[in-house]
Amino acid sequence: MKQIIFIKYGELTTKKANRNLFINILYQNIKDSLKNYQVKITKNRVRMYIETDDNTDEIIDILKNIFGIHSIVVANRVNTNIEEIKKNVLEIASSLSFKTFKVETKRSDKNFAIKSPEFNELIGSFLLKNIKDIKVDVHNPDFLLKIEIREDYTYIYNKEIKGSGGYPVKVAGRGLLMLSGGIDSPVATYLAMKRGVEVECIYFESPPHTSMQAKNKVKKLVKILTKYQPKITLHIINFTDIQEQIYMKCNPNYMITIMRRMMYRISQKVMEKRGALVLINGESISQVASQTLTSMYVINNVINCPVIRPVACLDKLEIIEIAKKIGTYETSILPYEDCCTIFLPKHPVINPNLETAIAMENNFDYEKLIEEAVNNMETIKIDNSEDEFII
Ligand code: ATP
Ligand code: MG
Repeated sequence: MKQIIFIKYGELTTKKANRNLFINILYQNIKDSLKNYQVKITKNRVRMYIETDDNTDEIIDILKNIFGIHSIVVANRVNTNIEEIKKNVLEIASSLSFKTFKVETKRSDKNFAIKSPEFNELIGSFLLKNIKDIKVDVHNPDFLLKIEIREDYTYIYNKEIKGSGGYPVKVAGRGLLMLSGGIDSPVATYLAMKRGVEVECIYFESPPHTSMQAKNKVKKLVKILTKYQPKITLHIINFTDIQEQIYMKCNPNYMITIMRRMMYRISQKVMEKRGALVLINGESISQVASQTLTSMYVINNVINCPVIRPVACLDKLEIIEIAKKIGTYETSILPYEDCCTIFLPKHPVINPNLETAIAMENNFDYEKLIEEAVNNMETIKIDNSEDEFII
């Protein structure tokens, strides 16, 4: 007998044509996520098997965060031989305390002589004979014993751990995510990854107005997010010159609107460079002045690529709940300034006018500054190795 982990695929099984691609990407993601462990992974159309002598609990904790997995099972693998199966079943049943049970057999190996219902009966009566004071309950058993008879081996298990669902990261193509150090954008990142988007992040900093700690906080957030996508590229844009020009040349009430128009423009250029198809951010309708529908309209106007806002329709409390669940919340609430919070106007415009915004930003040569910012962009790759970012 050998203990083995196997995973059942998530939503991907419904997409028949792309199945192989999905499975191969999921395989690679699992391999990358488990790179610090000694594992042997094998895959087929319906399952992936992971054999290891390392810590199974740690491996399961990692697998729980990988998208594209419906459930994770730790099974005993035995030869397809009735005596061996019985022996193992008895071992499992004896180690548990239960009053009612049910046996559920799935016979994929049609060469195996006994049909599933008969095999259920055979194992059921074997258990009744060998364990005292138990009875069968097919509707609501305390102990559900699953037996899968496959050509190579038989798998026996009684627990199925829920996976994250979603699609394997990368199957949907690449998106560029505007990552600030706040609560919302890491949640947006997680949700985009869950739908199979391979996320690259872009962060705007304005040194010396924003600090090294603020930048390290963003790197730390990216590091946390490598639980869900094992390798993440982070682009860091120096936004200081643009921000100072806006401060000097534009009406303070329009500063945030124009600043965000500049961020969008830069983001689209970086997307083109990186082959990203969508821009993603943590905007949430009506949360702040720059996220009213009018503001979104005026800001979005500078680009022509799709913008996905995964948390657009969530309340702050709902976003916080996800942030806590995915492990980014504690880092997000560390009090370092963001370039959106420096030079903050007293009365940011809630309903900006498009023509006014355009007229104001023509007070300086932003095209040139944008070009420079993109050319001087710093790009780093962050992965799921042990090293930490100190804030
Ligand atoms: P968050 O909690 O994610 O920072 P927020 O509520 O603070 O969001 P804003 O600061 O208005 O909202 O920003 C809205 C979105 O714009 C952010 O979620 C993020 O996607 C993007 N953004 C803001 N500041 C930056 C930045 N410095 N670098 C990259 N993206 C940013
Ligand atoms: Mg913010």
